[in-house]
Amino acid sequence: MKYAIFSDMHGNLEAYTAVLNEMRKEGPSRYICAGDIVGYGADPSECIRLTKEIDPVIVCGNHDWAAVGKTSIEYFNEYAKRAVLWTSSALTAEEKGYLEALDLVHVDQEISLVHGTLMRPESFDYVFNAGTAYAVLDMMKTRVGIIGHTHVPAIYSLEDGKLDRTPGSIKQMSRGGKYLINVGSIGQPRDGDPRAAYCIWDIDTDTIEIKRVQYDIGKAQRKMLDAGLPERLAHRLMRGR
Ligand code: ZN
Repeated sequence: MKYAIFSDMHGNLEAYTAVLNEMRKEGPSRYICAGDIVGYGADPSECIRLTKEIDPVIVCGNHDWAAVGKTSIEYFNEYAKRAVLWTSSALTAEEKGYLEALDLVHVDQEISLVHGTLMRPESFDYVFNAGTAYAVLDMMKTRVGIIGHTHVPAIYSLEDGKLDRTPGSIKQMSRGGKYLINVGSIGQPRDGDPRAAYCIWDIDTDTIEIKRVQYDIGKAQRKMLDAGLPERLAHRLMRGR
């Protein structure tokens, strides 16, 4: 049995489609999404449609709520702000209703799911260092936590009181440990690897693997430029930064 985990599609249909094709091959029994379906990319409506189709366990990202006016864009940079306003004008009332209804946090028997941190989910803080990762791990009632938001994949583990950040892409988990998985970004990777990121949790072997897939970056860029979205957001897709 496998779970397919992903985040931060950001309106990038080309990247999202490529990842969905790969994930389907794994035959996952569960899809899990850490939010930010829209923002930046030229296909917010299509990305919402695909998400509804696979119906994942999902929480909202800051861009999802910003596009429907549920969170302030005061702290967004100039480019993100322009993209959010563009996205907001491109969505139908029904699509906005879907984003508006997304929860900040999801917790069940197996996972805690949040876009930023469990401590202050509504502030959309970033987990970029060991201290913040530890605080989230400490607060988690579940063994596994899943986050997004930074667009940089990382697996933090807490085993025998020792916090570690896995440098590689595969992590063997253990029963007694706790794990915080940042799945990276499908539509706007920022770890220097332009390929779309997603993650497979193999329940039988209890391993987590962060995977990457190539997609038609040129096509996604052209659509962004044609839509009048900020050039900088299109260009950075090629660098994955
Ligand atoms: Zn994001």
